[in-house]
Amino acid sequence: MTSVRKPHSARTARNRLVFPVLVIYVVVSAAIVLGTGYWARDQAETAVRERNASTLNLVVENLRGELSKFIYMPKLLSSLDSIPRVLAAPTDRNSVDVLTEELGNIANISGAKAIYLLDDTGREITSSHATPGDNAPTRDSSKQPYFLQAMEGRLGRQFGIDPTSRGRSYFFAHPVRRQTSIAGVVVIQVEMDNLEPPWFSADREILVVDEHGIVFLTSRPEWRFRSISKLDTSSREKLVREGRYATRSFEPLPFTEGPAGGFARLEPVVIRTGSKAGTTTHADFVVDERLMPDSGWRVLILANAHGIQRQALISVIAAISALLILLLIAANIYQRRRRLIERMAIQETARQELEVRVLERTQNLTETNTKLRDEIDERHRAEAELKTTQVELVQASKMAALGQMAAGLSHELNQPLAAIRSYAENAGAFLDRQQPDTARSNLLGIAELTERMARIIKNLRTYSRNEQVPARPVLLQNAVQEACSLLEGRLVKAGISVQLDVPDDLPPVMAGDVRLQQVFVNLFSNAIDAMKAAPEKILFVRAMADPGGVQVSVQDTGPGVPEEVLESVFDPFYSTKDVGEGMGLGLSITYGIVRRFGGVITVSNAHEGGAVFTVTLPGAEYADEAAE
Ligand code: ADP
Repeated sequence: MTSVRKPHSARTARNRLVFPVLVIYVVVSAAIVLGTGYWARDQAETAVRERNASTLNLVVENLRGELSKFIYMPKLLSSLDSIPRVLAAPTDRNSVDVLTEELGNIANISGAKAIYLLDDTGREITSSHATPGDNAPTRDSSKQPYFLQAMEGRLGRQFGIDPTSRGRSYFFAHPVRRQTSIAGVVVIQVEMDNLEPPWFSADREILVVDEHGIVFLTSRPEWRFRSISKLDTSSREKLVREGRYATRSFEPLPFTEGPAGGFARLEPVVIRTGSKAGTTTHADFVVDERLMPDSGWRVLILANAHGIQRQALISVIAAISALLILLLIAANIYQRRRRLIERMAIQETARQELEVRVLERTQNLTETNTKLRDEIDERHRAEAELKTTQVELVQASKMAALGQMAAGLSHELNQPLAAIRSYAENAGAFLDRQQPDTARSNLLGIAELTERMARIIKNLRTYSRNEQVPARPVLLQNAVQEACSLLEGRLVKAGISVQLDVPDDLPPVMAGDVRLQQVFVNLFSNAIDAMKAAPEKILFVRAMADPGGVQVSVQDTGPGVPEEVLESVFDPFYSTKDVGEGMGLGLSITYGIVRRFGGVITVSNAHEGGAVFTVTLPGAEYADEAAE
């Protein structure tokens, strides 16, 4: 139980850690997301600013190149001979016409929009687009700054609107000197309308503003002649007075300054454009500018900032996604770890339970083992006791058998001994009485009795010796005949008729003459004994050839063998006869003899009563097999 509690407390400790870890994760994630947003914004802005810088370079160089083509032209023209001549005699039509043609040619070749010659009051004497022979032109440039600058003896330059074509132009003016004074001014007008078209682009605007902040060249035509910041009154009056632009309103463009500063600063800033209310439509731009010191102009580029914002947004979304994925992975790992720890805790509990169970089981087994060992010891003791008892029993049964045998033997021998003694005494008495014949018959009786005693002893010897005389081919019918002859006296005495059914042509069997004869003597003797009290006394002996040899049966008309002792009749010392009449060795000896011949002896009872002993002996031709 303690092992389960331990991971549980560890789990609550871990759960307590989850909240602070999550808070830290959220704070760090917010910082990462913000940082990523700002970083991506900076990166994208830097890229846009680099693009701005190169575009600005191009525009400025283009402008500068366009103007520098014409910057020295007025000075060059002022050195022409025809100009001082015309200035000296402005009413000389011939000289004026020659100059007019000359200026027309030069304007054509140089690409200038027009070339003017002004007198020292600012009135036009002639120009490149005048027609020779025409009336004198009426153009008055006396208030134009470029004229005033030239009259001060320096290069006059200025942007302005052409009063006749209304096109935007740039004017260069150079004084024409006569001795110490300035007799007139040569003016070159450069076309500027054609500079804008290449600037048109969807993602940025280009503005060229003058020193007052008035937009005079722009990629957005509706912004033309508007100011980028509110114009002060004196500047407005000056511009109106000069008539530099064809407007008087100079309405400020709807720019609002970005957080980083305004237009006055050279530092690039982010500004916002939109409606006056600054509500519905607006666009953010990244603004960069370049000053053109020669002309006092500023070139501004307004690059659309939505790409930057989109880039920042994408990066923020990517960062959030990555952090979410990270969170998911971390949650997954956390979950797995938790499950693993739980599983390990369960396994640990199971292991401990198993250990306890194994311990219990081992204890049980040890107890069982001890019990088993005790039982084995007990059994060994019992076996030893049994063995002792068996030995004692065997000994006891041996003693009993010996006692029985001794009793039988002594009776068997005592009877003829007593008879011999009385025969001998009688023989002595008859000899004394001179009756030798009677004495002789007594002596014959003695001889018969000794023969009987010898038979008894021989039987015992046969049983004990277990003779091993080799078998040989013998005719069974002879053995049967001899046995009958031997027992003829007893058979006749007992009134038994013998019925023999023994063919003469029976094949020889493997046996021994005497032992085979003994077999039949034993069987016939038992039959004689069994039929002692039988009303009908017949002994049947039937023999016939058998596939493996010869079969012979000995049947009597006695009471037969009780079923329950059928198995026991062949046991040694089994006898139902009174002491002195039988020793229980006859059938045992017979069984042994038949077995040694390789034959079989069985006992059964005939239907009509009486015992049937059947002996089967192997034929001589099967001798080898039998021997085996
Ligand atoms: P014994 O004749 O000395 O008793 P045996 O071994 O010859 O010993 O016989 C054992 C016993 O078998 C006999 O005592 C008898 O009970 C029984 N027996 C033998 N032959 C017959 C028979 N033909 N009929 C009935 N019983 C028999």
